[in-house]
Amino acid sequence: MIKENSFLYYDGARHSATSDHYFDNIDPAKGKVIHTVQSASLDDVEVVVRSAAAGFQIWSAMSPTERGRILRKAADILRARNEEIARIEVEDTGKPLSEALSVDIHSGADALEYYGGIAASLHGEHYDLGGSFAYTRREPLGICVGIGAWNYPIQIACWKSAPALACGNSMIFKPAELSPRSAVLLAEIFTEAGLPNGVFNVAQGKADVGQMLTRHPEIQKISLTGEVGTGKKVMADAANTLKHVTLELGGKSPLIIFEDADLDEAVNGAMIANFYTQGEICSNGTRVYVAESVKTVFLEKLIAKTKLLKLGDPMEMSTQVGALISEGHMKKVLQYIEQGKKEARLIIGGNQRTDVEGCSKGYFVTPTIFEAKVDTANIVQEEIFGPVMTVLSFTEEKDVIERANNTVYGLAAGVFTRDLARAHRVVNQLEAGMCWINNYNLTPVEIPFGPYKQSGMGKENGLATLNAYSQLKTVYVEMDKIDSPF
Ligand code: NAD
Repeated sequence: MIKENSFLYYDGARHSATSDHYFDNIDPAKGKVIHTVQSASLDDVEVVVRSAAAGFQIWSAMSPTERGRILRKAADILRARNEEIARIEVEDTGKPLSEALSVDIHSGADALEYYGGIAASLHGEHYDLGGSFAYTRREPLGICVGIGAWNYPIQIACWKSAPALACGNSMIFKPAELSPRSAVLLAEIFTEAGLPNGVFNVAQGKADVGQMLTRHPEIQKISLTGEVGTGKKVMADAANTLKHVTLELGGKSPLIIFEDADLDEAVNGAMIANFYTQGEICSNGTRVYVAESVKTVFLEKLIAKTKLLKLGDPMEMSTQVGALISEGHMKKVLQYIEQGKKEARLIIGGNQRTDVEGCSKGYFVTPTIFEAKVDTANIVQEEIFGPVMTVLSFTEEKDVIERANNTVYGLAAGVFTRDLARAHRVVNQLEAGMCWINNYNLTPVEIPFGPYKQSGMGKENGLATLNAYSQLKTVYVEMDKIDSPF
């Protein structure tokens, strides 16, 4: 029976789950339960896997041109429904509507369009062996699982499903329990675009459902977006059946501002790197290293612009800073701020806001800036995942590179300078998978995005990701008599 809370998707339709486990889908700006979502049971997971297996048989046998056409059609439908889906993303995540309208859905559609466009160009190679020859076939892996984080729900679902499906795989997507709805809309859009039943499926639940999937013997690949600790558990669980693994995890990325930088641009970069989506972005440049000689001017400009930020009801188009994802997460961010007050100088912000019009029960924290003297402070070392920037200073290029790299993370990094020779020299030495020069957090679909070090492994976007969702079969063809030793 299809009920309002039917949030599982398999065999091309919504279904209710069979478990008696439920979790709340909460609007973080209002602190209000929107839905009660039923978690998938082990039996449900089996049914979803059967659906994905049947979908794989049909999809992998279709021509790549036809596969690409369906992905591109899904991109068109997604764009046409931008506003409706953006509002759902805002209700689930608390991010400003202006951001969701301009970034989240379009970024997902870009991925479907991009991989839809290259699906028909996937190919193997021919090897001339002087008479005999060999060739390679680029084949899909089978059933792939995507496990999402809550900060960019539909974008993450698209970034994982688009390359997976373009390569001929089927996918089971498990959204984060805090943002469960848009993945089901994406599934319906795929079906409307002509995707055969079972090719894209949605399983709902918390870590236990994620674990049922990562341990399932029929699943060939897991792509997780989440915390470093979760990545370690997923990798360990996947090891038992030697699944392919892509891990897009957390970070504490450095943003280095040299004395010759355009300081207005650097301030804009630092704000984008810390306050967009209330700071809930994995690649954020939360350790802002500013050359000592320009630190005072930089801080003056930064404080002046931060004061102008409009925190408010995320559904208001003028809002620039929305609500954090949950009460628990808000408390965690506030704890970091309290700790920060002991180990660094609080410059601006640093408090909860309970006076937001129409949102008095929401989880709001003001954009916060600390100035820290030492890199050993907890707020400099640990991922806070909220609107909390820490500014540090440096004098020597060599020294700041060493400090930037002195972390277990390696997701991203940024450099602001007018000296492009220096910019390239510095990024060459930074241990980060994604570096920006004179900008921050831009992620066009054409360029690979992914981590170094304990921020994970593998890439999303770009051609590089196709390798992560396909495997090469080598075929040797004998054209002569066998040169047999027997
Ligand atoms: P999380 O690790 O708590 O959860 C991520 C997903 O993993 C959820 O769907 C969750 O249900 C599932 N999960 C949790 N434990 C699991 C287990 N043992 N087995 C299988 N699945 C499990 O992360 P979150 O709080 O949802 O997201 C915030 C984190 O995600 C931050 O650390 C952030 O940096 C990171 N992130 C990384 C990227 C990236 O591209 N590198 C992008 C966005 C967010």
